[in-house]
Amino acid sequence: MIGNRPSQLSSKLAGLLRQRSGSLTEELVLQPAKFGLGNVPGRLLPDSTTTVVCGFCATGCGLTVHFKNAQAINISAATDYPVNIGMACPKGWESLAPLKAPDRALTPWLRNSRGELEPTDWDSALQLFCLRFKAIQDQYGPSSVAFISTGQMVTEEMALLGALAKFGMGIVHGDGNTRQCMATAVTAYKQSFGFDAPPYSYQDFEESDVIVLVGSNLCIAHPILWQRVLRNRRRPEIIVIDPRRTETAVAATQHFAIHPKSDLVLFYGLAHILIRDGLVKAEFIEAHTEGFDEFKKHLLEYTPDFVSSVTGIKVERIEHLAGLIGKKERVSFWWTMGVNQSHEGTRVAQSLINLALMTGNMGRPGTGANSITGQCNAMGSRLFSNTTNLLGGHDFKSREHRQKIAGCLGIEEELIPSENSWAYDQILSGIETGAIKGLWIIGTNPSHSWIHQKGARALLSKLDFLVVQDMYWTTETAQQAHLVFPAAGWGEKEGTFINSERRIGLVKKVSKSPGESLSDFSIFKLVAQYWGCAELFQKWTSPEVVFRLLARLTIGQPCDFSGIVDYQMIDAENGIQWPFPEGTKLTSRQCRLFEDGVFYHPNGRARFIFDRSRSVPEATEEKYPYILLTGRGTSAQWHTQTRTAKSEVLRTLYPGGIYVEINPVDAEKMGIRSGDVVRVCSRRGRLEARAFLTPSVASGQVFIPMHYATTNQLTIASFDPVSRQPAYKHCAVSIVRLKSSGASKCIGKDFN
Ligand code: SF4
Repeated sequence: MIGNRPSQLSSKLAGLLRQRSGSLTEELVLQPAKFGLGNVPGRLLPDSTTTVVCGFCATGCGLTVHFKNAQAINISAATDYPVNIGMACPKGWESLAPLKAPDRALTPWLRNSRGELEPTDWDSALQLFCLRFKAIQDQYGPSSVAFISTGQMVTEEMALLGALAKFGMGIVHGDGNTRQCMATAVTAYKQSFGFDAPPYSYQDFEESDVIVLVGSNLCIAHPILWQRVLRNRRRPEIIVIDPRRTETAVAATQHFAIHPKSDLVLFYGLAHILIRDGLVKAEFIEAHTEGFDEFKKHLLEYTPDFVSSVTGIKVERIEHLAGLIGKKERVSFWWTMGVNQSHEGTRVAQSLINLALMTGNMGRPGTGANSITGQCNAMGSRLFSNTTNLLGGHDFKSREHRQKIAGCLGIEEELIPSENSWAYDQILSGIETGAIKGLWIIGTNPSHSWIHQKGARALLSKLDFLVVQDMYWTTETAQQAHLVFPAAGWGEKEGTFINSERRIGLVKKVSKSPGESLSDFSIFKLVAQYWGCAELFQKWTSPEVVFRLLARLTIGQPCDFSGIVDYQMIDAENGIQWPFPEGTKLTSRQCRLFEDGVFYHPNGRARFIFDRSRSVPEATEEKYPYILLTGRGTSAQWHTQTRTAKSEVLRTLYPGGIYVEINPVDAEKMGIRSGDVVRVCSRRGRLEARAFLTPSVASGQVFIPMHYATTNQLTIASFDPVSRQPAYKHCAVSIVRLKSSGASKCIGKDFN
């Protein structure tokens, strides 16, 4: 049963598709009213240049797109954009290349009776989508179909998807790939501050006396933010806390190479010393926080000797670091995946928040407990994906919030679920138990990126119906799908991203999407039409209209940006940070939170939250004697490389084949030389890689970049129990040499 699918629309689409005139995309996108789709986006820009926000990482750089004969031909870094001030990393410079890749999905693809994907038309694809998902829901209940979304879509699209899935299609469970990068920071902030609110502005990098970077290889993961550090005129101490001697650690003033996953103990130890030495800001604690007395008791056992024995850092160095944090005027704490992707990441993030609170390093220039986000719109996803939060950072469980959102959207309150979605891992586990039978995956690639990859692939193969919506039909996940929807990419549609410092920036259509691919916004509108729930989204006529709708939803929330009236205003100001309530005048290009010391809990106080440290999920042992660390490889690579591998330029900037970094001492014991092919095994899988000998990893540890297709064959499916974020950064492996390099010019020979 297709339900209330509007046959008129269907026949118009089918007719157009049959013609295969090549103008379908243009017709659908530029003349949407003709198809009952309203004012769907699609203004191609005639200017000679225009500024857009980058579509890779959450730094959110402004990029200037250059046109010739109405074609986007080149990109440069925007000089007047307050984020990057004329700088961009290789990914930004090469942003246009992935759009032209030969494996773009140009039509929908459908798996045929021989098990092969073959092109089909939109009408058939949309009919089948509804037919199969509705049949599954009829047989197993509405919650048997779920969706997994992405932090790579514009906010307006992710809001439309979340609303369509939950209010229109009756889907109960949806999550996003932001679970893999930001869930820990979200949970930590919510519990500590009362709302998910990274408090800083990038300007704080330039105004700190002490910059503490934890589990963050800023030089390559967020290279423009590293440039902001280098602009600091206060001669800051740059402290890197990371088991690896990363590029950032080499450039820092001090590196603390702690034992993997001993960070929580270190930060409790620092707090212990700060209290012992009277280096806490009692006035700030008294006026703006709660729970400090209990925290103090908790810290008693974290003596310097104990902390030294756990972390491997000498007592004098721990004492010295505590002194810096306690005595310097402006101290800022920054973290990324080394903290978030941990079995106890939420408590580690909160241990950094606690250090900032107890030393009064909050709400002043150059201070803060600051999570740096990963994907270009992870922050938009955190507020508007309608998965674990109701739209606009509201709470599904709150009747008051459901009423507010229903009123704003003009829908029945009963359509809004009163429970949160399951998390990503719970959705996948639901496949195992038979609770989830159908899955719609949008703009993400779990068959590559999910922890314990073999397990994830096996689960996806059990689904009755898997739909993948992506720019490319060749991703590992698309290759497992029954149906693929071809989507436009960054630069082929418009909308907004929110960057790490809460800056809302504009994404514009600078290029036509190829073939019959459509913007995600248009695909969601079509799904609504075919599903029979389009009337719920009559007001959602274009991304800009949706933006205004979402801005109204934020009124009364900490993230209120109702003062942003339209896209033109964002464009003119080069991005605007939230909060920006109605009536606000923009007086500064940099805004930080908590300058008044008032947090978002009902009593206005921030909370000290803490817990005992837990042991790692998989310790090393005789058979698997090495700790595997994973992380970003180079600034030219992005996640599963579905886009960055499409650029010839970027491909020259990193090793094409997978490699494993091994400490030379360990390598000697195993008879391994740089360039040798080695086999790395864990309890879950094995891979072959080139050995790269380097002292940047300590003895007993090895490192493999996350970007390669087999890396997650090794990782263990373990999760932070509070945030449910996967703990990618620690598992036990063995290594054996398979083949000699047989060459004198092997990679890494300089390190021997
Ligand atoms: Fe794009 Fe991030 Fe590079 Fe800036 S640092 S150009 S936002 S990928």
